[in-house]
Formats: sequence, structure tokens, C-alpha cells
Amino acid sequence: MNYISTRDKKTYFDFKSIFLRGLASDGGLFLPEKLRKYSKDDLQRLSKLNYFDLASEIISNFSEPFLKKDKIKSIIEKAYVNFDSKDVVKLNKINGVNLLELYHGPTLAFKDIAMQVIGLIFDEIDLNKKKINIVVATSGDTGSAAIAALKEKKDINLFILHPYKKISDIQRKIMTTCVSSNIFNIAVKGNFDDCQKIVKQMFNDEKFREKINMSGVNSINWARIVCQIVYYFYAYFKMQSKINFAVPTGNFGDVYAGFVAKKMGLPINKLIVATNNNDILFRVINSGEYKPLKVKPSLSPSMDIQVASNFERLLFHIFKEDDKKVKISMQKLSDEGFFKLEKDELNILQNDFEAERVDDSETLRIIKDFFVNYGFILDPHTATAVGASYKIKNESKTVILGTAHPFKFLDTIKLAIGKKIEPPKKFLGLTEKAEKFEILDNNLLELKKFI
Ligand SMILES: *Cc1c(COP(=O)(O)O)cnc(C)c1O
Repeated sequence: MNYISTRDKKTYFDFKSIFLRGLASDGGLFLPEKLRKYSKDDLQRLSKLNYFDLASEIISNFSEPFLKKDKIKSIIEKAYVNFDSKDVVKLNKINGVNLLELYHGPTLAFKDIAMQVIGLIFDEIDLNKKKINIVVATSGDTGSAAIAALKEKKDINLFILHPYKKISDIQRKIMTTCVSSNIFNIAVKGNFDDCQKIVKQMFNDEKFREKINMSGVNSINWARIVCQIVYYFYAYFKMQSKINFAVPTGNFGDVYAGFVAKKMGLPINKLIVATNNNDILFRVINSGEYKPLKVKPSLSPSMDIQVASNFERLLFHIFKEDDKKVKISMQKLSDEGFFKLEKDELNILQNDFEAERVDDSETLRIIKDFFVNYGFILDPHTATAVGASYKIKNESKTVILGTAHPFKFLDTIKLAIGKKIEPPKKFLGLTEKAEKFEILDNNLLELKKFI
């Protein structure tokens, strides 16, 4: 499959190079030149596959010829052996609520589903004995998933930038208690958008990027999107009718994967973007104006994002693949701090997406009600999607993506239901372990020096 940049559709790249580069050198994001479209008969055939075969089938569309279906299959089988659900994910029906639990991997958030695969794809790349330095920004869950996937790899160093004091204690501890000589945790005195900006600036600095042989695994890495497409198909086959998906959203990676599934022929009605008070996506989907505001800390920290990077991929679609227009809009965003969609462009966006904003008090109330009524504990991110799904008025059933295990947000759960929850077995004793991380200023030069 050939890949292009959202800001230049004339230059082609292959899967291996976009996998290693993450971000195009023109600042754009990589996209496949065209998508495979499944027919009704194809879907019928896919519906009979187990998760592993389904994943191999879907992912190999994007990775061939570099990684063929058999190779992907062996990667998938290895990637998911340690998941606590035999099907990797689990569709749980709780009193009429369809919850797709995506948090049964090693670090208790959906990020594991893509990251475990990515860790093994790195093993397939001949690095010519040249060490790779991966720099990644995390709003709390990508970092731990990346550590679990890449620790002890001798040809890779991993630098993780998390916003200082803006993630939960458990999220931080899962990262900073990991003992492995190739892992470097850095707390940046800023928010997630600052961390993400620094990583993008490093990528766009050709000299620095070459010097450290830099690579990235943020959600702008196309391979992550690809792995996330799979569970949309899985959920649809379990539900057997045209459905909505409600998705707790930050960087727009997970819900964009749902959009790709729809473009590949999956009968999805609406993709429902759930945001917290960091509501840039709620605003653009309802009004057409894309305008980042200041990040406000919330009870769902992995969604405390105002620059939703993957939205640029959707822009390419909304602008009918006009790469110049994407470039101009992104330039306007950086010069003037916003851009606005035309009426017909907004229509295209609203054809596939709806958005709802759920604030902290609503989130707490939903967690409490769910616990009191059904005895089930939602994490605060998943709760925003449950809240969003209550506001949707169309006829289709809705599947809610459960993006994290509630243990990661102990204090918020305690606030909501008045009691502490027990750690899952694999994290017994976590809170007593010693931590190791650096605290650095929000300063590109200082971070470059450190790396
Ligand atoms: C990362 C994350 C999100 C947001 O996903 P995006 O792909 O960035 O939109 C939501 N919930 C949890 C728990 C996360 O870790």
C-alpha cells in the first residue's frame, strides 16, 4: 500500500518508512492513498473470524508487502498472549448498555491494543545496528503502554514526556516504577499540548531527527490507528445491526479509527465524540470553528487535549482530498489560532460525527449511578462516553468504548462512589514501589540536550 501526507498527496511512501517516521517532514500526517472497501459478502466472511484472524486480515491490508498476512498473524498472536480477555477485548452488556471493554492489556488502557503490536513490528525492522530513539508525549496512558511494549529492547531508547502533576498517581507510577535501562521518564512543566508540541518540533528538526535516529509512537503514528480499526469490526459483528459508537476522545485517534472502519464498508451510523470540558472537538463538530483554548485539568486527564492532532486526517477527507487546503488551514491555525469550516464542509463532518461534552460533575454522577444501579465501576473517560450516549437521539443502538480500567483513577472513583477499589492482581504493591523520573522545564532546547 502507498501512503501520502495530508499536506502533499503527490509523494508516495511505503509502510515501513511511515511507521518509522510517524510524522511527514512537511508537518502533515500520513494516510493510505486509498482504502480497501469490503462488500457485504466480505463482511459476512469476516464475521466468522476470531479476533486474531480478523486483526491479521485487517492490518495486513495496510502493512503489505512489508509485513504479509502470515507475519502479521504471528505478531498478533504474540502481542495479545498476556491479555486478560481471551478475545483481547470484551463486549459486555450491562442493563442495555453495550460496553466494549478495551482495557484488558498489561497497562489497563486501550493503548495496549496497538502498542503491543507496534513493539513487535520494531523487531521486524533491520536497524543496521543503529540505535533508535523514540520520543513520545503522553496524556497518561500512551506512556505506560509504550513502556510495556518496548522495555528491555536493546536497540531502542524510549523517552516519555508526561505533563508534570497532570496525570493520575497510578498512571504515573505504572510508568515510573518500571526498571529498564532503555526507559527515560520525563515530567515536563506544562500540559499535554506542550509535550506534543515539543515532540512535533523535534520531528520537524531534520538535523536533530537524523542525529538521534528519532522515531515516534504517538497516536499520529498510522500503525496505531490501524490496530484500533479491528475492534470496531469485532463489535459490529457481535451486535449484528447498524450501530453508533460513543468514544471518549482526546487526540482523535481512536474515533478516527472508527471513521476508517466506516470508509472500509462497516455499517456504522454515527461516531459520537465524547469530550470533557476540553471541548475543541465538541465545538468544531457543532459549529465548524476549530480553535484551541487553554487546557483545563479534568477528572479524565487522558482527554485533556486541545490540539487534537489526528483531526488533520479528517480534514483531508472534509476538504475532498485537497492537500493545499489542509496546508493553508493548518498554517492559519498556527498564525491566527483558529480556522473555520465552510457550511458544506461542516455538513460532510456532521454526516459521520456527532459530539457531546460531559463535564466533571456529570462524570462523577454517571460513575456513581452506574455503580449504585448495576454494581459496575466505570473509569472517568468511559463515563464521558456513557454520558454522551444518553444524549443521542437516533434509532441505532450504541456501543460505548471502554478505554481504561477504573483502578488507574483511584481517587476519582473514591470521590464518586465513596470507596477505594482493589488493584488488579498484576498491580498489587504498585503504590509502594520506588519511582524514577526527571522533571524538566517546558523548553525544547533543554529537552534536546537531555535526550
Ligand atoms: C488516550 C485515551 C483517550 C483518548 O484517545 P484518543 O485516541 O487520543 O482520542 C481516552 N481515554 C483514555 C483512557 C485514554 O488513555
